[in-house]
Amino acid sequence: MGFDSTDDMANADVVVLNTCVVRQSAEDSATGVLGRLGKRTKGNDDRMIAVMGCMVGPEQTELKRRFPYVDVWARPQEFEPILETAGMKHGLDPEGCLAGAIPENPNVASFIPIVHGCDKFCTFCIIPYRRGRETSRSAADIVHDAEMMVDRGVKDITLLGQNVDSYGHDIRPRIDLADLFEKVHEIDGLERIRFMTSHPNDMSLRIIEAIRDLPKVCEMVNLPFQAGDDTMLANMRRGYTIGQFHDKIAQIKDIIPNVTLTTDLIVGFSGETDEQFERSMDVLRSVEFSKVHTSEYSYREGTFASRKMNDDVTRAVKKSRKVAVDEFQQVVQAKNNALLVGTQFDVLIEGRKRGRVHGRSRGDKLIYINAPAEGSMPEPQPGQTVQVEITDSSPWSLESELVSSSSLAITTANKEKVPVV
Ligand code: SF4
Repeated sequence: MGFDSTDDMANADVVVLNTCVVRQSAEDSATGVLGRLGKRTKGNDDRMIAVMGCMVGPEQTELKRRFPYVDVWARPQEFEPILETAGMKHGLDPEGCLAGAIPENPNVASFIPIVHGCDKFCTFCIIPYRRGRETSRSAADIVHDAEMMVDRGVKDITLLGQNVDSYGHDIRPRIDLADLFEKVHEIDGLERIRFMTSHPNDMSLRIIEAIRDLPKVCEMVNLPFQAGDDTMLANMRRGYTIGQFHDKIAQIKDIIPNVTLTTDLIVGFSGETDEQFERSMDVLRSVEFSKVHTSEYSYREGTFASRKMNDDVTRAVKKSRKVAVDEFQQVVQAKNNALLVGTQFDVLIEGRKRGRVHGRSRGDKLIYINAPAEGSMPEPQPGQTVQVEITDSSPWSLESELVSSSSLAITTANKEKVPVV
């Protein structure tokens, strides 16, 4: 539409606040920003404020009452009302503007939402109420977005969904995530495909085999278990027992021997005893995930848990359980990363951090690369995949030296032998 972007919110003509409400703290910080914007807009009629994302549910009466100065409330992916209002306020024609929803200079590793909403209704989760039922985007739209991104330099695409494994259940003729992998895999110039977040009940054999067989699909699965105790899992309405979760992990490891596994875990959910928390620790001890995203349970108004269960684990206990998980993971990650010292593998360069070139492995490890000796090899550039040798490690990242400016050729035949990183 001709607007320039600015980092200076105080002087912006159009402010679009994109919101996440998966936790109460995220919603609180969004309402805090909105409160500050309200003070600023008094007497300034030209300024436009739009709020979009998960904070905007199907019912907006209460939001409109609290924040009467917001011009547009747009649900996730609902770009049109923002463009129309900005057009009206500034005398601009929004026709055709949506085609440019892909950023002009996307990151080398970028994301494409493929399915919105969730049908699972876990008792602690607000997402199904705010984002609605699972709705898959058409494969043609997703491939189009992916092609545009690759044209603009993207090499690594993560296909996103609250429950990404259920992709396509609402499309006829039926298509699934494995089919979508195959279509995106065809795109010349794309090197890596990832996906998240998975649900243990929807991760099918077809999807697991596609990860094994398609060279561009990284050998990496984020499979949340959320709790290690069957009563907790039933109270969370996750739909599986911990035995079934372990069976799924065993199946994935059996089919993809070099898989990197990460997970999500909630500590301190309603009624969780010390013994029940220990069962979550048992799962961490037995699987040794590469990464664990741990959340202290936070009460969310509007969820089943908020209506029917007590948030009865104290903040101090939640915190101490999270510390226990983090400390355990630090030891696991330190041990497993130390084993990588001396090994060689591919790194896709993403940019510079603290003055040093960095990138990621297929297993999503953050790797810093020391500058090559003067005149030996050119410094690797963003978008380039290079081979490195690991020289040092910490629980969170790896240090390396450049070995070659070209990458290993990964094919279906050698995919199983790609190092576990
Ligand atoms: S599967 Fe994930 S997004 Fe869906 S309700 Fe459960 S926690 Fe929420």
